[in-house]
Amino acid sequence: MKYFPLRRRTGTAAFHTSRKAVDFGHQDLEKLSALDAVKFVAEAVWGSFTEMPCVHCGTIDAHYWSARELRWKCKCCGKRFSVTSGTVWADRKLPLTTILRIAFSWGNGASGVPALQLRRDWNVSYPTVFTLLQKLREGLTRGFSTGILCGTVEMDGMDINGRRYKEKRNKPQGGGKKVSPSIPAHLLKPSPDHVGPPLPPKWGKAARQHPDRRQMISVRQRGISKGMGASATKVSIAISESSHTVISVAERGISAESYLMTDEDPSYTSFARRFASHETINHSISFSREGEVSNNQAESFNARVRRGTEGIYLNVSNKYLTDYASEMAWREDTRKLSTGNRFKHLLQEALWVGMSWWWRGYTHGKHRQDELLVEGNQPAKARGRPKGWKPKPPK
Ligand SMILES: [Zn+2]
Repeated sequence: MKYFPLRRRTGTAAFHTSRKAVDFGHQDLEKLSALDAVKFVAEAVWGSFTEMPCVHCGTIDAHYWSARELRWKCKCCGKRFSVTSGTVWADRKLPLTTILRIAFSWGNGASGVPALQLRRDWNVSYPTVFTLLQKLREGLTRGFSTGILCGTVEMDGMDINGRRYKEKRNKPQGGGKKVSPSIPAHLLKPSPDHVGPPLPPKWGKAARQHPDRRQMISVRQRGISKGMGASATKVSIAISESSHTVISVAERGISAESYLMTDEDPSYTSFARRFASHETINHSISFSREGEVSNNQAESFNARVRRGTEGIYLNVSNKYLTDYASEMAWREDTRKLSTGNRFKHLLQEALWVGMSWWWRGYTHGKHRQDELLVEGNQPAKARGRPKGWKPKPPK
């Protein structure tokens, strides 16, 4: 009898267990003095410790270095700057070495590391570690999750957040007897053998959706080497997976010469006119056709985002979904880099976008108001207690 492997081996496990996957660890970070940490970040971000652009005027030169202050003085404008000036980590309170350790721990997670865990590991306050991570996510959203994909590109949407708990609550898995409290009548689906006048449109998919439901639309470019997975990922969050939103995502992020592969969702029907070719795969029949046509890379990325948001971060708010999705895209695209290169890549991407737009002054109540959506940003729904809420006085 001949045995077939369940799936083709792509060398992922071999890579992660190999020596070249891990070339940098916490013991290397522990050895860094304050000066070494500055050198490390400068090399990662500017590629040099001696020549760099001045944060204030942009002049690239070998600026005057002060080993006492661990800062440079610009040769042109005379102002001083440190390695984190003008980046998302500007005005940091923690020492750079600690920030690097926390960021390294965070970057090493396969599908994310929660802020609470890092707080326990490194004994810093929750707001500190939370804003630190959110600033990294901002850097990835603004610096990494940009640009245009081309070649063979797969696209897929996934429902995220806004579950209709009322329908699911107290329902045993796999059917069975209903238990109290029963589901409110207005949320019940009509029976499939319904006779009589046509059902009102409120039973359509869009009408039944929870207002907090979002769609994550992911676009992935296949790598050149066959069987090695996708090489680049872009994500967007939308309210619905309508033709309007998928076209706007595709036109903003995919070059017109690309070969597109999607599932048979009707929203993708006009893609054949817009791109070099458009193939669809009918998931009710198979997951791939002729060994070529599939959007499995996009599907598997979506599954990983689900694992991250539901299994690690738990209860991600709609307001910051885009930020979390960009983080996942970065994790996915750098999966085959060694630990050291991945960490440098993180610093490069996150520290190149300038100052933080969304997290400066967060702990003083300055919050981003908007949810970043394909349809246009909209004010995010507030969570928690309303402003001015006070506990009821005891009777
Ligand atoms: Zn200057």
